[in-house]
Amino acid sequence: MTATEPRPTTTDAGAPVASDEHSLTVGPDGPILLQDHYLIEQMASFNRERIPERQPHAKGGGAFGTFVVTNDVSAYTKAEVFQQGAETEVVARFSSVAGERGSPDTWRDPRGFAVKFYTSEGNLDIVGNNTPVFFLRDPMKFQHFIRSQKRLQRNNLRDADMQWDFWTLSPESAHQVTWLMGDRGIPKTWRNMNGYSSHTYSWINAAGEQFWVKYHFKCDQPIENLTQADADRIAGEDGDFHQRDLYEAIERGELPSWTLKMQIMPFEDAKDYRFNSFDLTKVWPHADYPLIEVGKLTLNRNVTDFHAEMEQAAFQPNNLVPGTGLSPDKMLLARGFSYADAHRARLGVNYQQIPVNRPRVAVNSYSKDGAMRIDNVTDPVYAPNSMGGPKADPLRATYAGLQALDGEMTRAAYTLHAEDDDYGQANTLLNKVFSEAQREQLVETVAGAASGVKSEDIRERVYQYWKNIDKVIGDKIEAAIKAKLAEGESDKGGARFD
Ligand code: NDP
Repeated sequence: MTATEPRPTTTDAGAPVASDEHSLTVGPDGPILLQDHYLIEQMASFNRERIPERQPHAKGGGAFGTFVVTNDVSAYTKAEVFQQGAETEVVARFSSVAGERGSPDTWRDPRGFAVKFYTSEGNLDIVGNNTPVFFLRDPMKFQHFIRSQKRLQRNNLRDADMQWDFWTLSPESAHQVTWLMGDRGIPKTWRNMNGYSSHTYSWINAAGEQFWVKYHFKCDQPIENLTQADADRIAGEDGDFHQRDLYEAIERGELPSWTLKMQIMPFEDAKDYRFNSFDLTKVWPHADYPLIEVGKLTLNRNVTDFHAEMEQAAFQPNNLVPGTGLSPDKMLLARGFSYADAHRARLGVNYQQIPVNRPRVAVNSYSKDGAMRIDNVTDPVYAPNSMGGPKADPLRATYAGLQALDGEMTRAAYTLHAEDDDYGQANTLLNKVFSEAQREQLVETVAGAASGVKSEDIRERVYQYWKNIDKVIGDKIEAAIKAKLAEGESDKGGARFD
């Protein structure tokens, strides 16, 4: 076979096939024969191509790259991936949250920002967003929140009433909703936005000292956003705008990068910090905990099989390496279970053997069997054993722990710290970060979104929600919505605002 000759087609079992074009029939016009195994294999494979889409974060894309440490942070963590000079292969995936796999990239929505570091000590996943906070602080509400942002049961349509119903009955959403309705609510591209762990995690150094940390991936490209009008236009012209942009930029050699910076809080500070350090609806103001540079993340290689390397990429916040850990953030602790469970449901119990998820170090776990297991397992299959099987070493596996706590079993809100409330940081964002023009734009954006609310009761709650954040802005939003309704203008059920 010369280099120019095509490779012969085979069945999935590797045997040559007779035709790519004609099925096996009785005479040219006769019926198809059941023994045409290749035809049946092609149809069967096609019928099974789709796997369940992610629920949520279904629409997304990403690339491979590297993470290089540029600063000495060994005082805070002993994780090898964060030691100076270390270079680690990564895969990153960006996504929108509420839309389905075919939904337009430019709907107003937070963006997922997930990074898997294939470290020398196993995989470390930071599964964040392009926003530093989230709508909720208790995982009991998460499922309900996502349902409220997706589609009505009765007609499969998106619906402003249920979106704003949930938000206005959940005042802890105010900070994230303000952020989302601001100008960063629709990034121009995935290359033009920051990524945040949002959650508080922990680090531990070689001496065993523990710190609370937040990861910030600061965009090295300029922060750029789309106006609602541009986003709407692009949604019609090119639903895959963000995915195409990232792919083409990397193909051109224009490699996007982010500088990883950390906020680091001494362990004892959390007890009486003015905000609850583990509340996912709060940031730590930079003035309290400035950003400390760690290194640079660069994306440099496109996937070559989107299904194998991106659709099957499985990120989970409980993929931790020695020197890193979780925190008492209730949302994070629940995600620790939920993400791995979602992968088992979607990809099967052996999803970590899929090449994109496979660690670059030896796996010596005692997991065995199950559907689609690829690796051969050797005896012994139990521990403890005297047969030379793997043995856990607590000295190597020093993960940061949670606070030592005791108390009665309860279902309760977090303990309030001195400045904890639902609206204060949203107000800071509005009045100390947004410009006057950005505040005016926010009024327009909210009016566009909430004028689609049909229930007067929910609209009243929308006005009050914004007045609780800021009286002046709330009054303007009320006036703008009423003006739109008077003119008979309203958006179609809030499809753009998840
Ligand atoms: P700073 O003045 O130190 O920082 C302001 C932050 O706001 C920067 O991180 C900036 O990101 C970001 N920002 C700027 N414009 C916008 C926008 N239009 N939409 C969303 N974010 C924007 O303030 P503080 O740390 O005291 O925080 C004040 C408020 O800023 C917070 O209440 C929070 O809403 C918001 N914020 C805070 C962050 C934090 O981790 N402390 C992170 C992001 C937002 P950049 O530097 O990339 O321009």
